[in-house]
Amino acid sequence: MVRPHLLNLQPYSSARDEFDQSKVDINQFVFLDANENPFNTGYNRYPDPLQRELKKKISSIKGVPYDQIFVGNGSDEAIDLIMRLFCSEGDTIHIPYPTYGMYEVSAKINNVNIKRSLLDENFNLGDVDMNQKIIFLCSPNNPTGNLLDVQSVLDKFNGIVVVDEAYIDFSSKPSFIKQLGNYPNLIVLQTFSKAWGLAGLRLGMAFADAEIIALLNKIKPPYNISSATQKLALQALARNEQTDEWVKSIKSERSRVAAELTKLPLVKDVFPSEANFLLVRIEGAAEIYHELVGSMIVVRDRSQVVRCSDCLRITIGTPEENDQLLDALRKSK
Ligand SMILES: *Cc1c(COP(=O)(O)O)cnc(C)c1O
Repeated sequence: MVRPHLLNLQPYSSARDEFDQSKVDINQFVFLDANENPFNTGYNRYPDPLQRELKKKISSIKGVPYDQIFVGNGSDEAIDLIMRLFCSEGDTIHIPYPTYGMYEVSAKINNVNIKRSLLDENFNLGDVDMNQKIIFLCSPNNPTGNLLDVQSVLDKFNGIVVVDEAYIDFSSKPSFIKQLGNYPNLIVLQTFSKAWGLAGLRLGMAFADAEIIALLNKIKPPYNISSATQKLALQALARNEQTDEWVKSIKSERSRVAAELTKLPLVKDVFPSEANFLLVRIEGAAEIYHELVGSMIVVRDRSQVVRCSDCLRITIGTPEENDQLLDALRKSK
């Protein structure tokens, strides 16, 4: 599946990787190898290109072996690298839609063809072409909020199956990372941007067979994750009870907001959600969007998206923010 010329690519060799570090205490060394500034600013040294400490911690939390973990500058970097690892110009990927927009943008940047298949009225998978290079399955799906039948695709798809689990922490179902051992063509994406509350850091994870991870590491920019990001992510991973609390609050607010929205006459449908947002069908969605902006509340207008006519995608905020939203909608019209 890999583009042949990448299999033999000699990757950029960073200065400190050219000798065996396993038997020495690297902190005792004098570094005159990378043209860094010797004066200590806290950030005068290049970061670890393989993010070893960070990935060891992720490995222990996620229960995925270290050599099956890739970290990127957001999931978006992983999506782009996956596209470039497997697809030459003219290859075709499959995207069930409506879904997250980055798969399509990344395909277009790389001049890769897109075969789309429309989700049905309940946002479930329709006809899937099992013979394309890559399929991108966003589950829970953005913007519809439901889980897709990933297993049915894994059992039949003949290319690479990318399962984007950006919202998995808010879901009632487990991650597909447990299936990595059974499917060498499976890549699971997760992110620090949602449950971990670190969208501003830009840190995404890809979990896959060790061979795929080694190839992604080979083609990534050598220092793709800054020292600051690696340090702050480690701090976040050390306080994962905080993340669990946030997730609990967001899930309970999701139920409360859904119940309150259902009571409003304007609201036609509140779709079940396994994510940290609700897709809501509401009379005059586009006008409501602008009314909400007038009340200094921004939601996502998805009313022009196929299968999502008259729909707003509303992220679950703090209880106070959710109350502001509900008050504004109650006053509407
Ligand atoms: C928010 C989101 C992401 C996160 O992307 P990052 O680049 O990691 O911030 C990934 N996939 C989907 C479907 C999302 O909605």
